[in-house]
Amino acid sequence: MTTIKLLPDLLVNQIAAGEVVERPAAALKELLENSLDAGGRDITVQVGAGGTRLIKVSDNGCGISRPDLPLALSRHATSKISTLEDLERVASLGFRGEALASIASVARLTLVSRTPEDEHAWSITAEGPAVSAPVPARLAPGTSVEARDLYFNTPARRKFLKSEATEYAHCEEAFKRLALSHPDAALTLQHNGKPRWHLKPQSLDERIVAILGQRFADDAIRIEEDAGALRLCGCVGAPENASATREAQYTFVNGRFVRDRLLAHAIRQAYADVLHHERHPSYVLFLELDPVGVDVNVHPTKIEIRFRDSRAVHQFVFHALSKALARTAAGDPAQVDPLRVQQLAPAAAPRGYANERSLPLQLGERVGFYETLFGSRPALETPSPEEPDNAARPLGSALAQLAGVYVLAQNDQGLVIVDMHAAHERIMYERLKQALDSEEMPMQPLLVPVVFAADPVLVATAEDHRETLLQLGFDVAPSSPTTLVVRAAPALLQDADPRALATDVLREMSEFGASRVLTERRNELLGTMACHAAVRANRRLTVPEMDALLREMEQTERSGQCNHGRPTWHRITLTELDKLFMRGR
Ligand code: ADP
Ligand code: MG
Repeated sequence: MTTIKLLPDLLVNQIAAGEVVERPAAALKELLENSLDAGGRDITVQVGAGGTRLIKVSDNGCGISRPDLPLALSRHATSKISTLEDLERVASLGFRGEALASIASVARLTLVSRTPEDEHAWSITAEGPAVSAPVPARLAPGTSVEARDLYFNTPARRKFLKSEATEYAHCEEAFKRLALSHPDAALTLQHNGKPRWHLKPQSLDERIVAILGQRFADDAIRIEEDAGALRLCGCVGAPENASATREAQYTFVNGRFVRDRLLAHAIRQAYADVLHHERHPSYVLFLELDPVGVDVNVHPTKIEIRFRDSRAVHQFVFHALSKALARTAAGDPAQVDPLRVQQLAPAAAPRGYANERSLPLQLGERVGFYETLFGSRPALETPSPEEPDNAARPLGSALAQLAGVYVLAQNDQGLVIVDMHAAHERIMYERLKQALDSEEMPMQPLLVPVVFAADPVLVATAEDHRETLLQLGFDVAPSSPTTLVVRAAPALLQDADPRALATDVLREMSEFGASRVLTERRNELLGTMACHAAVRANRRLTVPEMDALLREMEQTERSGQCNHGRPTWHRITLTELDKLFMRGR
Protein backbone atom coordinates (compact mmCIF):
# COMPACT_ATOMS: atom_id res chain seq x y z
CA MET A 1 0.00 0.00 0.00
CA THR A 2 1.25 3.49 -0.78
CA THR A 3 0.70 6.42 1.48
CA ILE A 4 0.27 9.94 0.21
CA LYS A 5 2.14 12.64 2.08
CA LEU A 6 2.24 16.38 1.79
CA LEU A 7 5.71 17.58 0.82
CA PRO A 8 7.46 19.92 3.24
CA ASP A 9 7.43 23.60 2.18
CA LEU A 10 11.15 23.71 1.56
CA LEU A 11 10.97 20.81 -0.87
CA VAL A 12 7.94 22.29 -2.64
CA ASN A 13 9.89 25.50 -3.12
CA GLN A 14 12.96 23.66 -4.31
CA ILE A 15 10.89 21.83 -6.90
CA ALA A 16 9.48 25.14 -8.11
CA ALA A 17 13.00 26.58 -8.09
CA GLY A 18 13.97 23.95 -10.66
CA GLU A 19 11.74 25.76 -13.10
CA VAL A 20 11.70 29.33 -11.91
CA VAL A 21 15.41 29.71 -11.24
CA GLU A 22 16.90 27.05 -13.43
CA ARG A 23 20.20 28.91 -13.55
CA PRO A 24 21.66 32.08 -11.96
CA ALA A 25 20.52 34.28 -14.85
CA ALA A 26 16.92 33.28 -14.15
CA ALA A 27 17.27 34.38 -10.51
CA LEU A 28 18.76 37.66 -11.68
CA LYS A 29 15.88 38.18 -14.09
CA GLU A 30 13.34 37.67 -11.30
CA LEU A 31 15.12 40.08 -8.96
CA LEU A 32 15.40 42.74 -11.65
CA GLU A 33 11.72 42.34 -12.47
CA ASN A 34 10.85 42.83 -8.81
CA SER A 35 12.92 46.03 -8.65
CA LEU A 36 11.25 47.39 -11.78
CA ASP A 37 7.77 46.39 -10.57
CA ALA A 38 8.52 48.24 -7.33
CA GLY A 39 9.16 51.40 -9.33
CA GLY A 40 12.93 51.22 -8.85
CA ARG A 41 14.60 53.40 -11.46
CA ASP A 42 18.14 53.27 -10.14
CA ILE A 43 19.20 49.67 -9.99
CA THR A 44 22.57 48.17 -9.22
CA VAL A 45 23.45 44.56 -9.91
CA GLN A 46 26.44 42.71 -8.55
CA VAL A 47 27.24 39.27 -9.83
CA GLY A 48 29.97 37.02 -8.45
CA ALA A 49 31.36 33.95 -10.22
CA GLY A 50 28.75 33.97 -12.99
CA GLY A 51 26.02 34.38 -10.37
CA THR A 52 26.75 31.14 -8.56
CA ARG A 53 28.56 32.82 -5.67
CA LEU A 54 26.56 36.04 -5.56
CA ILE A 55 23.65 37.86 -7.13
CA LYS A 56 22.78 41.13 -5.51
CA VAL A 57 20.19 43.57 -6.80
CA SER A 58 19.59 46.92 -5.10
CA ASP A 59 16.92 49.42 -6.06
CA ASN A 60 15.36 52.71 -5.02
CA GLY A 61 11.80 51.39 -5.36
CA CYS A 62 8.84 51.46 -2.99
CA GLY A 63 10.36 49.05 -0.45
CA ILE A 64 8.64 46.42 1.68
CA SER A 65 7.27 47.22 5.10
CA ARG A 66 8.53 45.28 8.12
CA PRO A 67 5.43 43.11 8.63
CA ASP A 68 5.46 42.15 4.94
CA LEU A 69 9.10 41.06 4.86
CA PRO A 70 8.53 37.39 5.82
CA LEU A 71 5.52 37.26 3.47
CA ALA A 72 7.68 38.32 0.53
CA LEU A 73 9.55 35.04 1.00
CA SER A 74 6.42 32.91 1.21
CA ARG A 75 5.29 30.99 -1.77
CA HIS A 76 2.25 32.36 -3.60
CA ALA A 77 2.45 35.61 -1.69
CA THR A 78 2.30 38.65 -3.94
CA SER A 79 1.28 42.27 -3.75
CA LYS A 80 0.63 42.42 -7.50
CA ILE A 81 -2.63 40.58 -8.08
CA SER A 82 -5.44 39.32 -5.93
CA THR A 83 -8.17 38.13 -8.27
CA LEU A 84 -8.53 36.23 -11.51
CA GLU A 85 -9.55 39.47 -13.22
CA ASP A 86 -6.26 41.02 -12.07
CA LEU A 87 -4.39 38.08 -13.56
CA GLU A 88 -6.17 38.49 -16.87
CA ARG A 89 -5.03 42.06 -17.24
CA VAL A 90 -1.78 41.91 -15.33
CA ALA A 91 0.55 44.79 -16.10
CA SER A 92 3.41 43.99 -13.71
CA LEU A 93 6.28 41.71 -14.68
CA GLY A 94 5.73 39.44 -11.68
CA PHE A 95 2.46 38.00 -10.41
CA ARG A 96 3.07 34.39 -9.41
CA GLY A 97 4.55 35.15 -6.00
CA GLU A 98 7.07 32.38 -6.18
CA ALA A 99 10.38 33.89 -7.23
CA LEU A 100 11.68 34.99 -3.85
CA ALA A 101 10.45 31.79 -2.18
CA SER A 102 12.17 29.73 -4.86
CA ILE A 103 15.44 31.62 -4.67
CA ALA A 104 15.38 31.49 -0.86
CA SER A 105 15.01 27.72 -1.00
CA VAL A 106 18.19 27.19 -3.02
CA ALA A 107 20.46 30.02 -1.82
CA ARG A 108 21.44 31.96 1.29
CA LEU A 109 19.18 34.95 0.94
CA THR A 110 19.25 38.32 2.63
CA LEU A 111 16.42 40.76 2.03
CA VAL A 112 16.90 44.33 3.25
CA SER A 113 14.20 46.90 2.64
CA ARG A 114 12.94 50.28 3.68
CA THR A 115 9.78 52.10 2.67
CA PRO A 116 9.85 55.92 2.39
CA GLU A 117 7.95 56.11 5.73
CA ASP A 118 10.41 53.89 7.62
CA GLU A 119 13.05 55.52 9.78
CA HIS A 120 15.47 52.78 8.97
CA ALA A 121 15.60 49.57 7.01
CA TRP A 122 14.79 46.04 8.18
CA SER A 123 16.58 42.89 7.20
CA ILE A 124 15.67 39.23 7.18
CA THR A 125 17.73 36.24 6.16
CA ALA A 126 16.69 32.83 4.95
CA GLU A 127 18.75 29.71 4.74
CA GLY A 128 16.98 26.50 3.89
CA PRO A 129 13.70 26.38 5.83
CA ALA A 130 14.80 28.86 8.50
CA VAL A 131 13.73 32.51 8.11
CA SER A 132 15.04 34.96 10.70
CA ALA A 133 12.94 37.64 12.41
CA PRO A 134 13.43 41.17 10.98
CA VAL A 135 16.34 43.08 12.48
CA PRO A 136 17.10 46.78 12.00
CA ALA A 137 19.49 47.53 9.16
CA ARG A 138 20.97 50.38 7.19
CA LEU A 139 19.72 51.21 3.70
CA ALA A 140 18.33 54.18 1.78
CA PRO A 141 14.65 53.76 0.90
CA GLY A 142 14.37 50.85 -1.48
CA THR A 143 15.23 47.19 -1.46
CA SER A 144 18.33 45.10 -1.69
CA VAL A 145 18.20 41.35 -2.25
CA GLU A 146 21.31 39.27 -1.97
CA ALA A 147 21.46 35.61 -2.96
CA ARG A 148 24.70 33.81 -2.12
CA ASP A 149 25.93 30.33 -2.97
CA LEU A 150 23.20 29.40 -5.38
CA TYR A 151 22.19 25.72 -5.20
CA PHE A 152 24.40 25.15 -2.12
CA ASN A 153 21.75 22.71 -0.84
CA THR A 154 20.71 21.18 -4.17
CA PRO A 155 23.82 19.42 -5.51
CA ALA A 156 21.93 17.82 -8.40
CA ARG A 157 21.07 21.25 -9.75
CA ARG A 158 24.58 22.52 -9.13
CA LYS A 159 25.93 19.84 -11.45
CA PHE A 160 24.04 21.36 -14.36
CA LEU A 161 25.77 24.68 -14.02
CA LYS A 162 28.16 25.54 -16.79
CA SER A 163 31.40 27.48 -16.67
CA GLU A 164 31.50 30.83 -14.91
CA ALA A 165 31.82 32.57 -18.29
CA THR A 166 28.72 30.82 -19.62
CA GLU A 167 26.62 31.59 -16.57
CA TYR A 168 27.78 35.18 -16.63
CA ALA A 169 26.92 35.49 -20.32
CA HIS A 170 23.37 34.40 -19.52
CA CYS A 171 23.19 36.92 -16.66
CA GLU A 172 24.33 39.68 -18.95
CA GLU A 173 21.70 38.71 -21.50
CA ALA A 174 18.97 38.86 -18.86
CA PHE A 175 20.27 42.29 -17.84
CA LYS A 176 20.21 43.56 -21.43
CA ARG A 177 16.65 42.42 -22.03
CA LEU A 178 15.35 44.29 -19.02
CA ALA A 179 17.51 47.29 -19.85
CA LEU A 180 15.95 47.49 -23.32
CA SER A 181 12.42 47.37 -22.00
CA HIS A 182 13.11 50.03 -19.34
CA PRO A 183 15.23 52.77 -20.91
CA ASP A 184 14.02 55.18 -18.23
CA ALA A 185 15.90 53.23 -15.53
CA ALA A 186 19.54 53.71 -14.61
CA LEU A 187 21.14 50.28 -14.50
CA THR A 188 24.60 49.12 -13.60
CA LEU A 189 26.10 45.67 -13.68
CA GLN A 190 29.31 44.46 -12.06
CA HIS A 191 30.91 41.08 -12.38
CA ASN A 192 33.44 39.97 -9.77
CA GLY A 193 33.74 43.58 -8.66
CA LYS A 194 34.47 44.91 -12.14
CA PRO A 195 32.02 47.32 -13.79
CA ARG A 196 30.57 45.85 -16.99
CA TRP A 197 27.59 48.04 -17.81
CA HIS A 198 26.58 51.48 -16.74
CA LEU A 199 23.40 52.77 -18.31
CA LYS A 200 21.96 56.20 -17.64
CA PRO A 201 18.23 56.84 -17.93
CA GLN A 202 17.75 57.59 -21.61
CA SER A 203 15.38 57.50 -24.58
CA LEU A 204 14.57 54.18 -26.20
CA ASP A 205 16.68 55.11 -29.23
CA GLU A 206 19.66 55.85 -27.03
CA ARG A 207 19.17 52.65 -25.07
CA ILE A 208 19.07 50.64 -28.27
CA VAL A 209 22.35 52.22 -29.33
CA ALA A 210 23.84 51.41 -25.93
CA ILE A 211 22.83 47.75 -26.01
CA LEU A 212 23.02 46.83 -29.71
CA GLY A 213 25.75 49.19 -30.76
CA GLN A 214 25.98 52.20 -33.03
CA ARG A 215 26.44 50.03 -36.10
CA PHE A 216 23.08 48.41 -35.69
CA ALA A 217 21.43 51.74 -35.02
CA ASP A 218 23.06 53.43 -38.01
CA ASP A 219 21.30 51.15 -40.46
CA ALA A 220 18.21 50.27 -38.51
CA ILE A 221 14.73 51.04 -39.74
CA ARG A 222 12.27 52.65 -37.39
CA ILE A 223 8.99 50.85 -36.84
CA GLU A 224 5.94 52.71 -35.62
CA GLU A 225 2.64 51.14 -36.50
CA ASP A 226 -0.82 51.27 -34.99
CA ALA A 227 -3.86 49.22 -35.87
CA GLY A 228 -6.68 49.70 -33.44
CA ALA A 229 -5.76 47.78 -30.33
CA LEU A 230 -2.39 46.64 -31.66
CA ARG A 231 0.76 48.71 -31.67
CA LEU A 232 4.25 47.82 -32.83
CA CYS A 233 7.32 49.97 -32.34
CA GLY A 234 11.06 49.63 -32.17
CA CYS A 235 13.59 49.08 -34.91
CA VAL A 236 14.77 46.37 -37.22
CA GLY A 237 18.08 45.89 -38.96
CA ALA A 238 18.34 46.92 -42.60
CA PRO A 239 18.12 43.77 -44.73
CA GLU A 240 21.16 44.59 -46.87
CA ASN A 241 23.26 44.90 -43.73
CA ALA A 242 21.91 41.89 -41.92
CA SER A 243 25.34 40.33 -41.90
CA ALA A 244 27.11 43.43 -40.65
CA THR A 245 25.14 43.71 -37.46
CA ARG A 246 25.48 41.82 -34.25
CA GLU A 247 23.12 38.93 -33.84
CA ALA A 248 20.45 40.31 -31.60
CA GLN A 249 16.76 39.60 -31.65
CA TYR A 250 14.53 41.01 -29.01
CA THR A 251 10.76 40.86 -28.91
CA PHE A 252 8.74 42.35 -26.08
CA VAL A 253 5.03 42.00 -25.54
CA ASN A 254 3.52 44.60 -23.24
CA GLY A 255 6.99 45.35 -21.93
CA ARG A 256 7.89 41.75 -21.22
CA PHE A 257 10.68 39.99 -23.09
CA VAL A 258 9.25 36.92 -24.77
CA ARG A 259 10.29 34.17 -27.08
CA ASP A 260 7.39 33.50 -29.34
CA ARG A 261 7.29 31.35 -32.46
CA LEU A 262 4.42 33.22 -33.97
CA LEU A 263 6.16 36.58 -33.71
CA ALA A 264 9.47 35.16 -34.91
CA HIS A 265 7.70 33.64 -37.88
CA ALA A 266 5.89 36.83 -38.81
CA ILE A 267 9.17 38.74 -38.67
CA ARG A 268 11.05 36.19 -40.70
CA GLN A 269 8.32 36.16 -43.30
CA ALA A 270 8.41 39.90 -43.62
CA TYR A 271 12.13 39.70 -44.32
CA ALA A 272 11.76 36.78 -46.71
CA ASP A 273 10.89 39.13 -49.54
CA VAL A 274 13.82 41.45 -49.08
CA LEU A 275 16.67 39.23 -47.94
CA HIS A 276 18.34 37.77 -50.98
CA HIS A 277 20.33 35.21 -49.07
CA GLU A 278 18.79 34.34 -45.87
CA ARG A 279 20.58 36.38 -43.31
CA HIS A 280 19.77 36.88 -39.75
CA PRO A 281 18.09 40.19 -39.13
CA SER A 282 18.58 41.93 -35.80
CA TYR A 283 15.66 43.64 -34.21
CA VAL A 284 14.20 45.19 -31.10
CA LEU A 285 10.43 45.17 -31.29
CA PHE A 286 7.80 46.11 -28.80
CA LEU A 287 4.29 44.83 -29.37
CA GLU A 288 1.54 46.32 -27.30
CA LEU A 289 -2.00 45.07 -27.04
CA ASP A 290 -4.81 44.84 -24.56
CA PRO A 291 -3.49 42.55 -21.77
CA VAL A 292 -6.70 40.56 -22.05
CA GLY A 293 -5.55 39.47 -25.51
CA VAL A 294 -2.48 37.69 -24.23
CA ASP A 295 -2.01 34.96 -21.64
CA VAL A 296 1.27 35.48 -19.82
CA ASN A 297 0.69 32.72 -17.31
CA VAL A 298 1.82 29.90 -19.55
CA HIS A 299 5.28 29.14 -18.22
CA PRO A 300 6.96 29.54 -14.79
CA THR A 301 9.55 31.92 -16.20
CA LYS A 302 6.87 33.88 -18.08
CA ILE A 303 8.99 33.89 -21.22
CA GLU A 304 6.38 32.07 -23.26
CA ILE A 305 2.99 33.59 -23.90
CA ARG A 306 -0.17 32.81 -25.79
CA PHE A 307 -2.13 35.22 -27.94
CA ARG A 308 -5.86 34.97 -27.93
CA ASP A 309 -6.11 36.03 -31.56
CA SER A 310 -2.83 34.77 -32.90
CA ARG A 311 -3.87 35.18 -36.50
CA ALA A 312 -4.54 38.88 -36.13
CA VAL A 313 -1.22 39.38 -34.32
CA HIS A 314 0.67 37.50 -37.00
CA GLN A 315 -0.90 39.50 -39.79
CA PHE A 316 -0.40 42.81 -38.06
CA VAL A 317 3.28 42.23 -37.34
CA PHE A 318 3.93 40.82 -40.78
CA HIS A 319 2.27 43.75 -42.53
CA ALA A 320 3.80 46.40 -40.30
CA LEU A 321 7.28 45.08 -41.01
CA SER A 322 6.69 44.42 -44.71
CA LYS A 323 5.57 47.98 -45.12
CA ALA A 324 8.59 49.37 -43.31
CA LEU A 325 10.99 47.11 -45.18
CA ALA A 326 9.46 48.04 -48.52
CA ARG A 327 10.42 51.62 -47.80
CA THR A 328 14.08 50.72 -47.86
CA ALA A 329 14.43 50.67 -51.63
CA ALA A 330 17.71 52.20 -52.79
CA GLY A 331 17.73 55.98 -52.69
CA ASP A 332 14.92 56.25 -50.20
CA PRO A 333 15.73 58.95 -47.65
CA ALA A 334 14.44 56.77 -44.82
CA GLN A 335 17.42 54.56 -45.39
CA VAL A 336 19.89 57.23 -44.40
CA ASP A 337 20.25 56.87 -40.68
CA PRO A 338 16.60 56.23 -39.92
CA LEU A 339 17.00 56.67 -36.17
CA ARG A 340 17.86 60.29 -36.76
CA VAL A 341 15.77 61.03 -39.83
CA GLN A 342 12.72 59.89 -37.98
CA GLN A 343 12.84 62.99 -35.82
CA LEU A 344 13.14 65.31 -38.80
CA ALA A 345 10.42 64.13 -41.10
CA PRO A 346 7.89 61.36 -41.38
CA ALA A 347 9.17 58.49 -43.45
CA ALA A 348 8.30 58.44 -47.13
CA ALA A 349 4.93 56.97 -47.96
CA PRO A 350 5.13 53.26 -48.62
CA ARG A 351 5.39 52.37 -52.26
CA GLY A 352 3.42 49.64 -53.92
CA TYR A 353 4.89 46.29 -53.11
CA ALA A 354 4.39 44.67 -56.44
CA ASN A 355 7.45 45.78 -58.38
CA GLU A 356 9.76 45.68 -55.38
CA ARG A 357 8.89 42.13 -54.60
CA SER A 358 10.16 40.48 -57.72
CA LEU A 359 13.65 39.20 -57.19
CA PRO A 360 15.09 38.14 -60.50
CA LEU A 361 16.06 34.52 -60.35
CA GLN A 362 19.53 33.82 -61.69
CA LEU A 363 19.79 31.19 -64.36
CA GLY A 364 22.18 28.98 -62.44
CA GLU A 365 19.97 29.26 -59.41
CA ARG A 366 16.99 28.12 -61.44
CA VAL A 367 18.63 25.01 -62.82
CA GLY A 368 19.56 23.81 -59.35
CA PHE A 369 16.30 24.82 -57.86
CA TYR A 370 14.51 21.54 -57.96
CA GLU A 371 17.46 19.88 -56.33
CA THR A 372 17.51 22.39 -53.56
CA LEU A 373 13.81 21.86 -53.11
CA PHE A 374 13.82 18.13 -52.82
CA GLY A 375 17.40 16.99 -53.03
CA SER A 376 17.08 15.16 -56.37
CA ARG A 377 16.10 15.80 -59.95
CA PRO A 378 12.45 15.53 -61.00
CA ALA A 379 11.27 12.80 -63.31
CA LEU A 380 10.68 15.09 -66.23
CA GLU A 381 7.42 13.88 -67.59
CA THR A 382 5.37 17.02 -68.03
CA PRO A 383 1.72 16.12 -67.73
CA SER A 384 -0.46 17.96 -70.17
CA PRO A 385 -3.15 19.89 -68.32
CA GLU A 386 -5.79 18.51 -70.68
CA GLU A 387 -5.44 14.96 -69.54
CA PRO A 388 -4.57 14.91 -65.90
CA ASP A 389 -4.53 11.56 -64.18
CA ASN A 390 -6.81 12.88 -61.52
CA ALA A 391 -7.33 9.78 -59.45
CA ALA A 392 -3.67 9.70 -58.48
CA ARG A 393 -3.41 13.47 -58.19
CA PRO A 394 -5.90 14.91 -55.75
CA LEU A 395 -4.19 18.29 -55.93
CA GLY A 396 -4.33 18.23 -59.70
CA SER A 397 -1.88 19.39 -62.34
CA ALA A 398 0.03 22.64 -62.11
CA LEU A 399 -0.96 25.39 -64.50
CA ALA A 400 0.97 28.47 -63.47
CA GLN A 401 2.42 30.51 -60.68
CA LEU A 402 0.65 33.60 -59.40
CA ALA A 403 2.34 36.67 -57.88
CA GLY A 404 5.42 34.66 -56.97
CA VAL A 405 3.52 33.19 -54.06
CA TYR A 406 0.80 30.81 -55.28
CA VAL A 407 0.80 27.74 -57.45
CA LEU A 408 -2.37 27.32 -59.52
CA ALA A 409 -3.46 23.82 -60.48
CA GLN A 410 -6.56 22.17 -61.82
CA ASN A 411 -8.22 18.95 -60.78
CA ASP A 412 -11.60 17.32 -61.45
CA GLN A 413 -13.46 19.65 -59.16
CA GLY A 414 -11.93 22.89 -60.27
CA LEU A 415 -9.08 25.16 -59.32
CA VAL A 416 -6.49 24.42 -56.62
CA ILE A 417 -4.45 27.27 -55.15
CA VAL A 418 -1.35 26.40 -53.13
CA ASP A 419 0.69 28.71 -50.91
CA MET A 420 4.07 27.42 -52.01
CA HIS A 421 6.10 28.60 -49.03
CA ALA A 422 3.66 27.22 -46.50
CA ALA A 423 3.36 23.92 -48.35
CA HIS A 424 7.06 23.46 -48.76
CA GLU A 425 7.66 24.34 -45.15
CA ARG A 426 5.25 21.64 -44.08
CA ILE A 427 6.96 19.08 -46.25
CA MET A 428 10.40 19.97 -44.89
CA TYR A 429 9.03 19.85 -41.38
CA GLU A 430 7.63 16.36 -41.76
CA ARG A 431 10.88 15.16 -43.31
CA LEU A 432 12.92 16.58 -40.48
CA LYS A 433 10.59 14.98 -37.98
CA GLN A 434 10.98 11.60 -39.60
CA ALA A 435 14.74 11.93 -39.77
CA LEU A 436 15.00 12.90 -36.12
CA ASP A 437 12.61 10.15 -34.99
CA SER A 438 14.60 7.49 -36.78
CA GLU A 439 17.81 9.03 -35.42
CA GLU A 440 19.06 9.49 -38.93
CA MET A 441 19.55 13.16 -39.50
CA PRO A 442 21.93 13.13 -42.45
CA MET A 443 24.69 15.70 -42.19
CA GLN A 444 26.15 17.60 -45.09
CA PRO A 445 29.73 18.82 -44.61
CA LEU A 446 30.12 22.34 -45.95
CA LEU A 447 32.68 22.86 -48.70
CA VAL A 448 33.82 25.97 -46.93
CA PRO A 449 33.15 26.07 -43.19
CA VAL A 450 31.26 29.20 -42.17
CA VAL A 451 32.90 31.25 -39.43
CA PHE A 452 31.00 34.13 -37.84
CA ALA A 453 30.95 36.38 -34.82
CA ALA A 454 28.28 35.27 -32.38
CA ASP A 455 26.86 36.24 -29.08
CA PRO A 456 28.87 34.72 -26.17
CA VAL A 457 25.73 32.98 -24.96
CA LEU A 458 25.44 31.13 -28.25
CA VAL A 459 29.14 30.29 -28.30
CA ALA A 460 28.81 28.82 -24.83
CA THR A 461 25.70 26.91 -25.86
CA ALA A 462 27.52 25.35 -28.80
CA GLU A 463 30.30 24.30 -26.47
CA ASP A 464 27.96 22.82 -23.89
CA HIS A 465 25.65 20.91 -26.21
CA ARG A 466 27.78 19.41 -28.91
CA GLU A 467 26.02 16.05 -28.69
CA THR A 468 22.55 17.47 -29.12
CA LEU A 469 23.72 19.55 -32.04
CA LEU A 470 25.19 16.51 -33.76
CA GLN A 471 21.92 14.70 -33.22
CA LEU A 472 20.21 17.56 -35.02
CA GLY A 473 22.66 17.33 -37.89
CA PHE A 474 24.97 20.22 -37.00
CA ASP A 475 28.70 20.29 -36.61
CA VAL A 476 29.08 23.68 -35.00
CA ALA A 477 31.75 24.63 -32.49
CA PRO A 478 33.39 27.68 -30.95
CA SER A 479 36.47 28.85 -32.82
CA SER A 480 37.13 31.58 -30.24
CA PRO A 481 35.15 32.97 -27.27
CA THR A 482 33.20 35.17 -29.69
CA THR A 483 33.10 33.22 -32.92
CA LEU A 484 31.49 30.03 -34.11
CA VAL A 485 32.32 27.76 -37.00
CA VAL A 486 29.73 25.64 -38.81
CA ARG A 487 31.37 22.67 -40.54
CA ALA A 488 28.29 20.65 -41.39
CA ALA A 489 24.53 21.22 -41.47
CA PRO A 490 21.53 18.93 -41.91
CA ALA A 491 21.53 17.61 -45.47
CA LEU A 492 17.77 18.11 -45.70
CA LEU A 493 18.30 21.83 -45.28
CA GLN A 494 21.07 22.38 -47.77
CA ASP A 495 19.34 25.39 -49.27
CA ALA A 496 19.31 27.25 -45.98
CA ASP A 497 21.98 29.68 -44.82
CA PRO A 498 24.05 27.63 -42.35
CA ARG A 499 24.85 30.61 -40.21
CA ALA A 500 21.27 31.79 -39.78
CA LEU A 501 20.11 28.24 -39.26
CA ALA A 502 22.72 27.39 -36.63
CA THR A 503 22.11 30.68 -34.86
CA ASP A 504 18.39 30.02 -34.59
CA VAL A 505 18.90 26.50 -33.30
CA LEU A 506 21.46 27.65 -30.73
CA ARG A 507 19.22 30.44 -29.60
CA GLU A 508 16.37 28.03 -29.07
CA MET A 509 18.70 25.77 -27.07
CA SER A 510 20.08 28.53 -24.90
CA GLU A 511 16.59 29.75 -24.17
CA PHE A 512 14.84 26.50 -23.44
CA GLY A 513 17.64 24.09 -22.56
CA ALA A 514 19.08 21.39 -24.79
CA SER A 515 16.93 18.62 -23.38
CA ARG A 516 13.69 20.56 -23.77
CA VAL A 517 14.33 21.38 -27.41
CA LEU A 518 14.48 17.65 -28.10
CA THR A 519 11.36 16.87 -26.07
CA GLU A 520 8.58 19.35 -25.32
CA ARG A 521 9.86 21.96 -27.74
CA ARG A 522 10.95 19.61 -30.45
CA ASN A 523 8.21 20.54 -32.89
CA GLU A 524 8.87 24.24 -32.44
CA LEU A 525 12.53 23.64 -33.16
CA LEU A 526 11.82 21.59 -36.26
CA GLY A 527 9.41 24.28 -37.38
CA THR A 528 12.14 26.88 -37.09
CA MET A 529 14.50 24.70 -39.09
CA ALA A 530 11.89 23.97 -41.76
CA CYS A 531 11.12 27.62 -42.19
CA HIS A 532 14.75 28.28 -43.07
CA ALA A 533 14.67 25.76 -45.86
CA ALA A 534 11.29 26.53 -47.31
CA VAL A 535 11.13 28.07 -50.73
CA ARG A 536 10.87 31.83 -50.65
CA ALA A 537 8.30 33.97 -52.33
CA ASN A 538 9.19 35.07 -55.85
CA ARG A 539 11.19 32.02 -56.76
CA ARG A 540 9.87 31.28 -60.20
CA LEU A 541 8.98 27.61 -60.53
CA THR A 542 8.67 25.64 -63.73
CA VAL A 543 5.57 23.52 -64.30
CA PRO A 544 7.40 20.25 -63.47
CA GLU A 545 8.72 21.83 -60.27
CA MET A 546 5.23 22.91 -59.31
CA ASP A 547 3.91 19.45 -60.05
CA ALA A 548 6.65 17.96 -57.94
CA LEU A 549 5.56 20.16 -55.06
CA LEU A 550 1.94 19.06 -55.45
CA ARG A 551 2.95 15.38 -55.49
CA GLU A 552 5.10 15.87 -52.40
CA MET A 553 2.17 17.49 -50.64
CA GLU A 554 -0.07 14.56 -51.46
CA GLN A 555 2.42 12.23 -49.88
CA THR A 556 3.10 14.28 -46.79
CA GLU A 557 1.07 13.84 -43.68
CA ARG A 558 -0.80 16.89 -42.48
CA SER A 559 0.27 18.81 -45.56
CA GLY A 560 -3.06 20.64 -45.58
CA GLN A 561 -1.67 23.01 -43.00
CA CYS A 562 1.70 24.64 -42.54
CA ASN A 563 3.23 24.13 -39.10
CA HIS A 564 1.75 27.40 -37.99
CA GLY A 565 -1.73 26.14 -38.63
CA ARG A 566 -2.42 28.24 -41.70
CA PRO A 567 -3.88 26.36 -44.66
CA THR A 568 -1.41 25.43 -47.38
CA TRP A 569 -4.01 25.19 -50.13
CA HIS A 570 -7.58 26.03 -51.13
CA ARG A 571 -9.93 24.74 -53.72
CA ILE A 572 -12.42 26.69 -55.77
CA THR A 573 -14.85 24.29 -57.40
CA LEU A 574 -16.24 24.73 -60.87
CA THR A 575 -19.66 25.16 -59.31
CA GLU A 576 -18.33 28.07 -57.29
CA LEU A 577 -16.76 29.55 -60.39
CA ASP A 578 -20.00 29.09 -62.30
CA LYS A 579 -21.83 30.94 -59.59
CA LEU A 580 -19.37 33.79 -59.81
CA PHE A 581 -20.07 34.08 -63.50
CA MET A 582 -23.81 33.41 -63.14
CA ARG A 583 -23.49 30.51 -65.46
CA GLY A 584 -26.14 27.81 -65.06
CA ARG A 585 -24.89 24.27 -65.52
P1 ADP B 1 5.91 38.34 -7.51
O1 ADP B 1 6.91 39.25 -8.12
O2 ADP B 1 5.36 37.37 -8.47
O3 ADP B 1 4.85 39.07 -6.75
P2 ADP B 1 8.09 37.52 -5.83
O4 ADP B 1 8.33 36.28 -5.06
O5 ADP B 1 9.07 37.87 -6.87
O6 ADP B 1 6.65 37.42 -6.44
O7 ADP B 1 7.99 38.72 -4.80
C1 ADP B 1 7.03 38.65 -3.75
C2 ADP B 1 6.61 40.03 -3.30
O8 ADP B 1 7.70 40.66 -2.63
C3 ADP B 1 6.21 40.96 -4.40
O9 ADP B 1 4.86 40.81 -4.76
C4 ADP B 1 6.51 42.33 -3.78
O10 ADP B 1 5.43 42.74 -3.00
C5 ADP B 1 7.66 42.05 -2.86
N1 ADP B 1 8.94 42.45 -3.45
C6 ADP B 1 9.87 41.64 -3.99
N2 ADP B 1 10.94 42.33 -4.42
C7 ADP B 1 10.69 43.62 -4.17
C8 ADP B 1 11.41 44.84 -4.38
N3 ADP B 1 12.62 44.87 -4.99
N4 ADP B 1 10.84 45.99 -3.96
C9 ADP B 1 9.62 45.99 -3.36
N5 ADP B 1 8.91 44.88 -3.14
C10 ADP B 1 9.41 43.70 -3.54
MG1 MG C 1 8.73 38.68 -8.83
